[in-house]
Amino acid sequence: MKSSNSLANIVLAFLITSSLISCKQETTSQSIISKEKPKQQKTIVIQPYSDLDKSQADFIISEVKKVCPKVVVNKPIPLPVSAYYAANKRFRADSIIAIQKRICQNKYTLLGLTSKDISTTKGNAKDFGIMGLGYCPGYSCVVSGFRIKGSNRMEKFRKVTLHELAHTEGLPHCPNLHCYMRDAKGKDHLNEETDFCEGCKKKLLEKGWKL
Ligand SMILES: [Zn+2]
Ligand SMILES: [Zn+2]
Repeated sequence: MKSSNSLANIVLAFLITSSLISCKQETTSQSIISKEKPKQQKTIVIQPYSDLDKSQADFIISEVKKVCPKVVVNKPIPLPVSAYYAANKRFRADSIIAIQKRICQNKYTLLGLTSKDISTTKGNAKDFGIMGLGYCPGYSCVVSGFRIKGSNRMEKFRKVTLHELAHTEGLPHCPNLHCYMRDAKGKDHLNEETDFCEGCKKKLLEKGWKL
């Protein structure tokens, strides 16, 4: 019984890996489409990377706690060295979320927070700078404050974080220009985003979010 379960898990892991490699969605705040089924009421483990100011990490942590019932906070650790892309002196977000995925093993959602520049491949751009990246749905996402500018940058940081977490819950981009799930398409529209729209809110409430 146990060994057949293990075999099933291996096959499942292979299928998940294959789907992650073959399906990518390309936007500034990106998501990688996967066929993982999200569980309800997921625990969110927040991993602040040690480059991020504690006050900024604490703000995002308190904002995530307001909407997600189960939050655990890890001690800061350095960004994974293997995700560093020396040619452009920045970290690959796709590598970071893949590493985090191996750590959380789909048992909880792992949210990484950093101040370092992160990037992924976007269309013909091999190494495109982004604010965030998450699996959709899945259990791993990362948000960087590096490209978030303006006097209200922490509020924007919060919006990008909620956007990526909602991707992990399976929410796609939303056509509503005022919704947090708006596709950034390489630009910063964050000041135009006021909340999750009613449709996106409904989906997140079903996942156990407090909105
Ligand atoms: Zn997105
Ligand atoms: Zn929406």
